[in-house]
Amino acid sequence: MSMSVRPEPRPGVMKIDAYVPGKSKAAGGSKVYKLSSNETPLGPSPKAIEAVRNADHFELYPDGSATKLREAIAAKYGLDPNRIVCGAGSDELLSYITTAYVGLGDEGIYSEHGFLVYRIAILAAGGTPVVAPEKNYRTDVDAILERVTDKTKIVFLANPNNPTGTYIPFDEVKRLHAGLPSHVVLVLDAAYAEYVRRNDYESGLELVATAENVVMTRTFSKIYGLASLRIGWMVAPAHIVDAVNRIRGPFNMNGPAMAAGIAAVQDEAHVAKAAEHNAQWLDWLTNEIEALGLKVTPSVANFLMINFPEETGKTAKDADEFLSSRGLILRRIDAYGLPHALRLTVGSEEANRLVVEALRDFMNGARNA
Ligand SMILES: *Cc1c(COP(=O)(O)O)cnc(C)c1O
Repeated sequence: MSMSVRPEPRPGVMKIDAYVPGKSKAAGGSKVYKLSSNETPLGPSPKAIEAVRNADHFELYPDGSATKLREAIAAKYGLDPNRIVCGAGSDELLSYITTAYVGLGDEGIYSEHGFLVYRIAILAAGGTPVVAPEKNYRTDVDAILERVTDKTKIVFLANPNNPTGTYIPFDEVKRLHAGLPSHVVLVLDAAYAEYVRRNDYESGLELVATAENVVMTRTFSKIYGLASLRIGWMVAPAHIVDAVNRIRGPFNMNGPAMAAGIAAVQDEAHVAKAAEHNAQWLDWLTNEIEALGLKVTPSVANFLMINFPEETGKTAKDADEFLSSRGLILRRIDAYGLPHALRLTVGSEEANRLVVEALRDFMNGARNA
């Protein structure tokens, strides 16, 4: 054996482009507004903060099955706690589910501008990512169904989707499920479900309860404002829960995070306030930004995709630099195949007004601050 031989990762690993989180530093501005990671401007419930402060006995291992947190989630959503698994963020659960069902040579499908964690999870498991084109930045159910082969093991649907902010009505989700072979796992990622205000939207809890191949993932990182604590959960049929629990780290959830999660899920008033703030400012931002000659993709989540049409002669890249010079951090989404757009998270009233003001100056040809 030659001296130069060194360990090689499994095929697929080196095809992964590591996930690049939203920036948290700006080029200028005395105050920085981070609007790049879909975090809530309201922060978490004060009761969740209190629960973390009161946490103690850090020398003891936490409850490895997250019993109390699962019970609190189940009580809120009317679910069976035995059908719930908690994770260090829903990202961890997405990767467990993929590891459980996808192996070398298997295929996993997600949509063209879908959340990039799906691609990473599929490649990491040794599988082949299959991308279904979208129509008008919306998931196209037929395009997904056309790409199903006998190698397909998993289909991911973010509804609403990040970074586009679009959604498909529940009828379409049911049509997707009905068209899939029964051995394919359908993952409904409902990270932004609490924000959606549309009569034809449902996160799909009913489908999870009645089908043998549907999993839903949810998160405390978005409307609950607990991204830093890493709390997610999934609800699934018993046999999928069993498979995921076999590969789950035995103590994947930490004690303070679980305490915070319980307090947060019980504070319905805080969630309602966050949803209300979002509805108001999502509309306002959409109207104000469109009035500047930019195109906003209609969003039902807590962020919006701002398109810079070619005829304006303005680019997303230049806009990003201009906004950054004023302390406003948005998200470039080139990695999602959207180099002509920026993603803006709905922020505080102050931040929202500053973004519109800065975009107006940018469109009027102002130079970087
Ligand atoms: C933010 C986000 C998540 C949540 O990730 P966590 O690991 O729970 O913080 C999941 N899916 C999508 C589409 C997201 O945008």
